[in-house]
Amino acid sequence: MKKWINGHFHTMRTKDDIYHTMVTDQGIIVGFDDAVSHITPQETIDLHQCHVYPGFIDAHLHLIGYGRFITLIDLRDVYTKEDVFLTLDKNKDKSMLYAEGYRDLGITKIELDQLIPDKPVFLRHLDYHSLTLNSKALELVKLSSDKGILREEEAMTALKRLPKHKKDELKMMLRHAIKQLYAYGITGGDSDDLYYFNGFDETFSVFDEVLEEMPFRTHLLMHHETITDFVHSGKSWNEQTPFLELGAVKMFYDGTMSSKTARMKDPYRGTNDHGEIVMGKQRFVDTLKRARSLGLTAAIHVIGDQGLDDVAKLLKRFPPKPGQKDRIIHAPWAMKKTIPLLKSLPITIDIQPQFLSADLPRALDYFSKEPELIFPWKTYLEEDIPILGSSDAPVETPNPLLGMKDAIYRESNHNHQAYHLEQSLPPFEAIKLYTTYAHQQHTKTNRGYLDQGMIADFTVSSKDLLTLNKDEWNEPLIEMTIIDEQIVYQKK
Ligand SMILES: [Zn+2]
Repeated sequence: MKKWINGHFHTMRTKDDIYHTMVTDQGIIVGFDDAVSHITPQETIDLHQCHVYPGFIDAHLHLIGYGRFITLIDLRDVYTKEDVFLTLDKNKDKSMLYAEGYRDLGITKIELDQLIPDKPVFLRHLDYHSLTLNSKALELVKLSSDKGILREEEAMTALKRLPKHKKDELKMMLRHAIKQLYAYGITGGDSDDLYYFNGFDETFSVFDEVLEEMPFRTHLLMHHETITDFVHSGKSWNEQTPFLELGAVKMFYDGTMSSKTARMKDPYRGTNDHGEIVMGKQRFVDTLKRARSLGLTAAIHVIGDQGLDDVAKLLKRFPPKPGQKDRIIHAPWAMKKTIPLLKSLPITIDIQPQFLSADLPRALDYFSKEPELIFPWKTYLEEDIPILGSSDAPVETPNPLLGMKDAIYRESNHNHQAYHLEQSLPPFEAIKLYTTYAHQQHTKTNRGYLDQGMIADFTVSSKDLLTLNKDEWNEPLIEMTIIDEQIVYQKK
């Protein structure tokens, strides 16, 4: 039994529901203040007037992908061709140069060949849907391309033909990722990883084994290409261990903004192009039907407003079993007419507030006409369409404080202007995105609040998140992260 004293425990039931002492036992919250004053614990932890919230959750990220990202060549903060070349040159001793976070700067095969002719070079674009390669790399993956730029399925094929990582390397990447997430106050995440590395079985066992050593509430989406492997594995859906669940079938409806492959109602500026349906509509429908035939839910990547409308109609036509909920991932643009349709569906939407600050205003320049609704989080909430906060790491830094800030202030990182403030969330709702709401796809319901009977997962901040000023959100506020009653992170 542990007694946590001198804290401000925000239950998240209402803004003012705050306690100062909490007792936990065997991973569960026993009670607060007067109700536990008679208890003599084995251990007392002084929280020195810090503020405590239900453990942060990132509802959509790529855990191993993030682990790989923090151990590889990082081009996210590189904005010019010359600096990309400089970074590659610094890494030219590696046997293969694999970089992520590349901001499509127009580099081609010819330029890469001049710089590094003898080793394969892979530049994975920031949106993860495209790849720029040199000749050696194209040779390695047995593909050809004049400019060395591959998009969507072709890029995926190239990645699949890369030499596999050793299982121990994947475990190392996952450990790195979880350790960094602890420092951001994160106690769990819904991750899409089972397809991109060493196949369903080995990747699953990587999670199983690492989570034995490091507690982290993990919910794994199953990429549609892994459904057959899932069926063969004989595993049941949902709960595997107290720290591991198997979730919905991950499918892609359209592409991305930066590749101009998101499916839009109006064409991209200066073109007749409305974006893509990346799998083709028939294959998408067949995949959805297959998921349904196995009793599985869908987790659908969709960015464009037309894409969102299409997906909503398809989910209406092919609903999940009663009681099940599908999830839509991203949905930054919407038509007004899609909202009632979304509202009528058993769905949740994984939103990424940091996409707003990273992509605006540039994304608006791509359009011939501004979409009707732009990152419409307030609309989703008011219409009772459940939204969950996430970072899509490694696309964005998985620091929930930055996501909360963007949900409130809606400011571009580029020009520091705010966009559509009528859609901004109050701080209490912004915090809920990453705490209470983020659990809406989980099997167990005893989480997301600090309350008697809830799991003892919580995040400790040096300041009250409900009353921060704008700049304070950028500070390293996390003092401690607790999972299953264990302190997994403590600031030095
Ligand atoms: Zn993703």
